[in-house]
Amino acid sequence: MASNGVLDARDRDAMLGRLATERFDVLVIGGGITGAGAALDAASRGLRVALIESRDLASGTSSRSSKLIHGGLRYLEQLDFKLVYEALRERDLLVSKLAPHLVKPVRFLFPLYKKVVERPYVGAGLALYDAMEGTRRPVPLHRHLSARGALRLAPALNPGRLAGAMLYYDAQVDDARYTLTVARTAAAHSAVVATRATVVGLTRGADGVRVTGARVRDEESGREFGVTADSVVVCAGVWTDLVHELAGVRAGYRVRMSKGVHIVVPRAAVRASAGMIVRTEKSVLFFIPWGEHWIVGTTDTDWSGDRAEPDATEEDIGYLLAAANRVLVRPLTRADVIGVYAGLRPLVAASESNGKGDKPTTKVSREHVVDVPVPGLASIAGGKFTTYRLMARDVVDAAVSDFGREVVPASVTDQVPLLGADGLAAVRAGAGRLAEDYRVSRSVVEHLLGRYGTLAAEVLDLVRADPELARPLADGHPYLRAEVAYAVTHENALHVEDVLMRRMRLVFESADSGAGAATQVSEIMGRLLGWNRRRRAVETRRYLDLVAAEHAAAAAGPMPSADLAVSAAAG
Ligand SMILES: Cc1cc2nc3c(=O)[nH]c(=O)nc-3n(C[C@H](O)[C@H](O)[C@H](O)COP(=O)(O)OP(=O)(O)OC[C@H]3O[C@@H](n4cnc5c(N)ncnc54)[C@H](O)[C@@H]3O)c2cc1C
Repeated sequence: MASNGVLDARDRDAMLGRLATERFDVLVIGGGITGAGAALDAASRGLRVALIESRDLASGTSSRSSKLIHGGLRYLEQLDFKLVYEALRERDLLVSKLAPHLVKPVRFLFPLYKKVVERPYVGAGLALYDAMEGTRRPVPLHRHLSARGALRLAPALNPGRLAGAMLYYDAQVDDARYTLTVARTAAAHSAVVATRATVVGLTRGADGVRVTGARVRDEESGREFGVTADSVVVCAGVWTDLVHELAGVRAGYRVRMSKGVHIVVPRAAVRASAGMIVRTEKSVLFFIPWGEHWIVGTTDTDWSGDRAEPDATEEDIGYLLAAANRVLVRPLTRADVIGVYAGLRPLVAASESNGKGDKPTTKVSREHVVDVPVPGLASIAGGKFTTYRLMARDVVDAAVSDFGREVVPASVTDQVPLLGADGLAAVRAGAGRLAEDYRVSRSVVEHLLGRYGTLAAEVLDLVRADPELARPLADGHPYLRAEVAYAVTHENALHVEDVLMRRMRLVFESADSGAGAATQVSEIMGRLLGWNRRRRAVETRRYLDLVAAEHAAAAAGPMPSADLAVSAAAG
């Protein structure tokens, strides 16, 4: 049972049983940020909600973004004022009220290179950006900097043509963790959440028209079952057209896939104490501070290949290195790149198009579109991570509009802090006391507060019960073994990759992509999930194979050694 937002992987069979036997008001397809948001929106209106995800929560685009919660400075240039305005309001709501433990302000330098024209132009844009934010202001106003001031903050910049810089603020988030927390918050409001369950067909009512539920395949057992719901909501990102095909409907839009690649380099490779945003020929390039690393990206190119695992090519990596090196005094090399990831933007194209278009993908609007192609089925695509709450509100409004049997209250998610947010200030103030009580260092407590907010004590309780779990999972990284156990007992992790790719981000934060930790993860998970020795080896191997496939596709530098892979699989 999901009480208090606990998603215990050991309760999966009970969850699937509930899906098969209960009647739902809303069935949401897709456990990315849009689907998790829709589940929370509907559940917090008092509706009975089921959320079904075919792989893991956030395994699609929602773990592969630039991880910025931002107004989108570049959309101002495209005169997309509504999008920027809404996104800034959302950013501030998340930073100040809904998820202050997860969404954190970050400052960015915008270097200027054209002495006379650029400063007034960018300055006016940033003044507008600040003004759109309104009067409640959880992040500071922008500032003008001289070239010398810019170099003080970012000695990594090439001083050659530098004319000055602007300093402004946005926010950042661990996208996968945020999505998980939204899904858990939906579960806390009684939503039933199931992963590794794929919608393989939609069912119609007696009239042969209205959608009344879905056929679902349990990906772990291959078993199929039906789920009954008054309305089905499609939040399937780049899979949306495929779900429409399953339903045999033609929606008013199609999805255009645009691939975005990021590289990850050590923090020491770029000397700067603020993030940076620099212009490129087609768009902008971000240097985003990420713990002991920088995430540098992104690209924006049409894609028509595999939706589940888009690959980053050497060309993508070369493009990013070249774009970064145009502004850096010490160039980044291929050897600096320790991680690479690629994601697909689910952009909206007109329904008569073939999912491509004349416009380059950088120019396609990031606004979202909602459609009700047939009664009982609402779908949404487009949008941004930042505006997920508004997207969720709009698609749930569309879904309930023909319920007819009662007035469903309007969205209340602007008043629903995510799990871990309520009372955060007091728990932060008591960090020292927590460290003493649980006999761990202050930095461990800070690390946990930044990932779980007020739920950090739940992880610490596991440490108290088994002090072995206080040990770090991988050298040089802050994650504890206890967090692996917690991922199973509270965060619905079913496989090693759920932990190493999304509950933690070792897949791109560690030079070995987390391969060295896979055996330990498998052991800790196996103890809780009843895996025998052979199953543990299979689970470890499964992770190593996934990582090897990613490396082969991305040619992302040296793979973890064969010895390591073999010994891990044997464990
Ligand atoms: C490179 C890049 C950078 C970005 N940077 C930012 C940024 O910094 N800030 C920002 O605001 N936005 C950003 N975005 C946009 C943002 O990441 C996306 O808009 C958002 O993550 C899309 O979420 P989603 O839930 O719609 O799709 P997804 O996260 O892809 O979720 C769809 C889910 O549906 C599931 N699914 C599909 N078919 C089925 C089925 N039949 N049954 C069950 N489940 C199914 C999939 O497995 C998948 O998990 C970026 C996007 C990219 C690609």
